[in-house]
Amino acid sequence: MANSNTLSDSPVNHPVSDFNLHTAITADVDAIVTDIEGTTTDLRFVRDTLFPYARERLASFVREHADSPDVARVLEQVAHLAGLRGADIEASIAKLIAWSDADEKITALKALQGLIWNAGYRDGALRAPVYPDVAPALKRWRTNGIRTYVYSSGSIAAQQLLFAHTIEGDLTPLFDGYFDTTSGGKLSADSYRTIASAIGLLPARLLFLSDHAGEVAAAREAGWLAVQVVRP
Ligand SMILES: [Mg+2]
Repeated sequence: MANSNTLSDSPVNHPVSDFNLHTAITADVDAIVTDIEGTTTDLRFVRDTLFPYARERLASFVREHADSPDVARVLEQVAHLAGLRGADIEASIAKLIAWSDADEKITALKALQGLIWNAGYRDGALRAPVYPDVAPALKRWRTNGIRTYVYSSGSIAAQQLLFAHTIEGDLTPLFDGYFDTTSGGKLSADSYRTIASAIGLLPARLLFLSDHAGEVAAAREAGWLAVQVVRP
């Protein structure tokens, strides 16, 4: 690893200015907006834990909850999309598994995965990892009067679920709000303008944290301060 920036004391990965995060948050920033995957949480959690968890339980979950309104809605969408006639649950399950294995971005599949994760978080089987500096940094920033937000490509419901069930407990009291791609894509400067308006602060008073250089560049294009967080 070249260098490993953390949320608490990292140098800014920027070719021009080299203020550090501590200076920025005490002197120059009214709110901090953070990415999740690769920034607060190990990227591998989604790939190695969440997706396999849903895949393993997909068939049994659908069979067990076929009569619940949420699963019934998923099954209706699958039957419609796949051109299945009647209520053939096993055919719908086979279709969902095929989509899952092909990593298809299909809304009905995503909705079902969300239901399975929701159940897993609620019964304690799933807990989201957060890097050890995350909770202390959030607490310190808030003590200093800085507002804290999330901006992630996962849905706001998924973000809240993740932070409500972390290995450090429920971290949702440490956030003032959540943004997802309904505010626009993370590589578009306009999204950061939209979020700044929603928060009600000037872009120059906002700091964005992300592991993704393109997202950092988009935030800077919108006039934000931004730090690229580099994790081991
Ligand atoms: Mg990320």
